[in-house]
Amino acid sequence: MLPFDKFHDECGVVAIFAHPEAEKLAYLGLHALQHRGQESAGIATSDGLTLRSHKAMGPVAEIFTEEVLAKITGTLAIGHTRYSTAGDSALLNAQPIQVQSNKGAIAVAHNGNLTNAQTVRAQLEGQGSIFQTNSDTEVIVHLIALSKEHTLPYAIGDALRRVEGAFSLVMMSPDRIMAARDPRGFRPLAMGRIRAPEGQKCDTIVFASETCAFDLIGATYERDVEPGELVVVGPEGITSTFYAEPAPRSSCIFEHVYFSRPDSVVFGRAVQTSREEMGRQLAREAPVEADLVVPVPDSGVTAAVGYAAESGIPFRFGLIRNHYVGRTFIEPSQSVRDFGVKLKLNPVRSLLKGRRVVLIDDSIVRGTTSRKIVRMIRSAGAKEVHMRISCPPTISPCYYGVDTPSKSQLIAANKSIDEIREYIGADSLSYLSLEGLKKACGDGEKTSYCSACYTGKYPTSIVDVEEILPARA
Ligand code: AMP
Repeated sequence: MLPFDKFHDECGVVAIFAHPEAEKLAYLGLHALQHRGQESAGIATSDGLTLRSHKAMGPVAEIFTEEVLAKITGTLAIGHTRYSTAGDSALLNAQPIQVQSNKGAIAVAHNGNLTNAQTVRAQLEGQGSIFQTNSDTEVIVHLIALSKEHTLPYAIGDALRRVEGAFSLVMMSPDRIMAARDPRGFRPLAMGRIRAPEGQKCDTIVFASETCAFDLIGATYERDVEPGELVVVGPEGITSTFYAEPAPRSSCIFEHVYFSRPDSVVFGRAVQTSREEMGRQLAREAPVEADLVVPVPDSGVTAAVGYAAESGIPFRFGLIRNHYVGRTFIEPSQSVRDFGVKLKLNPVRSLLKGRRVVLIDDSIVRGTTSRKIVRMIRSAGAKEVHMRISCPPTISPCYYGVDTPSKSQLIAANKSIDEIREYIGADSLSYLSLEGLKKACGDGEKTSYCSACYTGKYPTSIVDVEEILPARA
């Protein structure tokens, strides 16, 4: 059995129903979701009868040239962009997954990770199923194909009741788009509409991981696909059913901390609002006397704006980011210290020299980035560097679709805050409290959050992962 690719599935999904250039809207939508995954991307389209798809490694704009898009024109489309660890299996696991089944042709794109995929796959293989990828999404495809239900929506509901974990799915048959979220609503999935121009019969219905995709294609956000809901859009219109009982909401709080774009509305809440409030709350919880508030761009910018506004300390861009860092670069043979981070960031000496700096970032994972940046700020002449992080210490891996390394590599799982401060070389270090973070994200208002990466308390009972399960030896 191929090993599962279960830890590294940061993704963005998009779907378009009824547009004469659905493939182009899917492409633009994926472009807006590029931050959710840069390793591979794919689009599947339908002209009403036949499904076609193209997927490849690399960024969206490189993969989808005009020639490629011309080969997959359609009126329905789904798209996927994915971050995965590099490896031979990467293209094999690129999505959408397209198959011909006894329920007809179907294409599936998935954001999130299933937590019982290995168990279900073993059962299916026991019954003779042959898997072609090592992605957990293929488990869903097999379950749909094997379902005894006769219609595709019922088969999807049947399949989704058998899987656990995180899934925001967009699916396509030749004449329908289907969108579903897991009963806990771990990952986001928004629904929007483009009003039909004169002469076009019906509105275009769209789905995307984040609303920033809607802005680019001129769609208006209407609502989220609800946890446990399956929305089917077809010639008959929009149908909503709940395939599962509601479970306690577990929206990923890290979407608001880091992953989503600040111009998106995620889980019904503007990410910008949450992030600025994280900064304000951090300033209240961890004040410090300093001359400047400096963000680590781009991840710390919005929280730093909030910290500066609350503390009254001036906000300055003391680090400048080079946005043109490609995937390959040539390093001088006489290796330069911190070369990787220097390629991306450069300190503004004239601002930092002799100053006491509050340095803001969204998170510390392994600690290596913060260590290099603190060193960079000091080498530019800063007198003091006070690191402030707009979330609690990351102590546990995510099994629901965010790429966090194993516990052994998470610095906060292995060192005290003072040891981390010493490691990164800061004069002081503070994290936002969990209560402060939840308040900043409006916990309990429109949704409640999963914060397992900060607490180690996982909301699903079944977690098919060696690190959590008792040793299987
Ligand atoms: P590290 O050097 O491992 O401590 O990396 C921390 C940096 O990585 C922070 O600046 C974060 O903005 C960024 N980061 C945190 N989580 C992720 C993630 N899941 N994917 C990509 N970058 C991340």
